[in-house]
Amino acid sequence: MELNDRAELDTSQVNDLGRGGGSSRGIPIPLPTGRGGLVGLVITVLVALVGGGIGLNAATNDDGAGGEDLGQACSRDNPDRFENVKCRNLLYVNSIQDYWKQEYPAISGRQYEPTDTNYFGQAVSTGCGSADSGVGPFYCPADKQVYIDLSFYDELASRFGADGEFAAPYVLAHEYGHHIQNLLGTNERAGQGDQTGPESASVRLELQADCYAGAWARHATESKDKSGQEALFTSITESDIKEAVETAEAIGDDTIQQRSGRGINPDQFTHGTSEQRQRWFRQGYDRGDPQVCDTFGTSRL
Ligand SMILES: [Zn+2]
Repeated sequence: MELNDRAELDTSQVNDLGRGGGSSRGIPIPLPTGRGGLVGLVITVLVALVGGGIGLNAATNDDGAGGEDLGQACSRDNPDRFENVKCRNLLYVNSIQDYWKQEYPAISGRQYEPTDTNYFGQAVSTGCGSADSGVGPFYCPADKQVYIDLSFYDELASRFGADGEFAAPYVLAHEYGHHIQNLLGTNERAGQGDQTGPESASVRLELQADCYAGAWARHATESKDKSGQEALFTSITESDIKEAVETAEAIGDDTIQQRSGRGINPDQFTHGTSEQRQRWFRQGYDRGDPQVCDTFGTSRL
């Protein structure tokens, strides 16, 4: 993958919240953190935030104002900007949203609603309650935003062996897949179905988000920068796609369960097996069309 040095990034799509982003108190999101919630947690449980109320969360708030100025750090004037993980991820977000701006009207007949990604450290308060980094990157349907602690990628590399550079855009494209599902009403309907099990609504939702990520990857080199004049990526190769597929493999429910030493229990699946996650990403990529991502209507999940 090569990023375009001439691209102008749209920094308004990302908020850098710093450590303990948002507020320092709240009710932690009551979700399993060690059981395959990795990448792609859709937080469906709405937790009312009690402002300053029950201080259960140990989050600190000493850097709540956020880190560096992304406008400056990620500007074209900085020749080293793509060595900065925040700028690289900003470019991915810009690309994913530019893709959906083109594609969403075709599948829905409506305009795409852009949404922000929030970088946080350690803990964050969201419209779905407060969360810490242990839950991994997630999308909150209530405030329609994506949340990620960028140190997650280090964990993905060290604990899960998914150290390819293209893991990051895959993860973000998956989370934006949940935003698309939220706009379409898919996740609300799925929220009424089973939340665990090999054919559960949760698994169907997660595999669809993987497929949407693949559809974006197919068209990523066509996505344009803020000015609309420059490409964001100058190239994406088959080895990048392989890295995305390897990441999907590393975070399949069966692989994570096996790694944890508890044995494979399909009743507890929430995201799909490694084979399924790879296959649905590939399906989206090979066909390059989100219409082929119907994980709810398929006879072969
Ligand atoms: Zn997901």
